[in-house]
Amino acid sequence: MADCIFCKIVKGEIPSSKIYEDGDFLALLDINPINPGHTLVIPKKHYVDFLDMPEPLIGTLFSRSQQIAKAVIAGVSAEGFNIGMNNRKVGGQVVFHAHVHIMPR
Ligand code: 5GP
Ligand code: ZN
Repeated sequence: MADCIFCKIVKGEIPSSKIYEDGDFLALLDINPINPGHTLVIPKKHYVDFLDMPEPLIGTLFSRSQQIAKAVIAGVSAEGFNIGMNNRKVGGQVVFHAHVHIMPR
């Protein structure tokens, strides 16, 4: 989608700190982290939010998020973490390209 910042990151049009990439997903460090290692896992294809994503991709998104969370948590020696998705404006969503937050604690 032309005006989407995460689509621009996927296309390499703007820089990001990528920590994982495969054919369908990208994981990058959040530009404004709540804690060191705060990571976003995004589908490469543009979907607006959780409900916009096809069901099979939800399964893969969360299995990738688990693998990435293991690496991130180990990497920053976190004692715990939160994962979550903000959906739609009143849900706190600011970037309207679906993404999972991994937030080390
Ligand atoms: P949400 O839509 O889930 O509320 O928040 C979007 C998240 O994306 C925020 O935590 C924000 O810091 C992050 N973010 C926004 N723009 C960029 C960017 O250009 N690069 C990176 N790495 N993160 C971004
Ligand atoms: Zn997008």
